[in-house]
Amino acid sequence: MLKLLTPHLRVESVLELTLDRLRELGLDSLLLDVDCTLKRYSQNDVEPGVADWIEELRRGGIKLCLVSNGLAGRIGRFAQQFDLPFIARACKPLPFRMTAAVRKMGFRPDRTAMVGDQIFADVLAGRLAGLVSILVRPIRPEEEPWYARLKRGPERLVLRGKEEGGRRKADFRLLTPIRLPPSAFRLPPPSLLTFQPLSGRI
Ligand SMILES: [Mg+2]
Repeated sequence: MLKLLTPHLRVESVLELTLDRLRELGLDSLLLDVDCTLKRYSQNDVEPGVADWIEELRRGGIKLCLVSNGLAGRIGRFAQQFDLPFIARACKPLPFRMTAAVRKMGFRPDRTAMVGDQIFADVLAGRLAGLVSILVRPIRPEEEPWYARLKRGPERLVLRGKEEGGRRKADFRLLTPIRLPPSAFRLPPPSLLTFQPLSGRI
């Protein structure tokens, strides 16, 4: 179970996922969570730099699709700004709608990452769908609705268990991104990859 809650990679922001970085990781498609990943929950606009980042990835040939548990109207309007395909009411952490989307859009699962801010939705769903899982630090999580905030406490516990024997504080703000050796992603499938500083296989 712990493996299913473990992202392959942790970053502070999607902006760290540059074209070079994605190529290094062997990724050419991203499923992107929306709220607290690309934008604040309470706002319609993306965070500074994210629109340019989307454009740069697209020009670089990275295929993108939004995957959100939000309602179709709101997520659809957001997707329209960037002319991106989207899945609303995705029912994460269930993997079925993502698996279907990956197949329908012709993405290769071993070259596709689910990128999101929630362990119990995005990481778990990505793992269950057999994708690479990338966890970002949530943008202003205090703006989320109460039922989403309920998951933050257990998330901190899970993250603390992965931080060098729990010596670091279980505070997302204090976490440093896990830097993967470039060679790690050359080994399919993702489920067999080994990442530092976690011990053993995840
Ligand atoms: Mg989110």
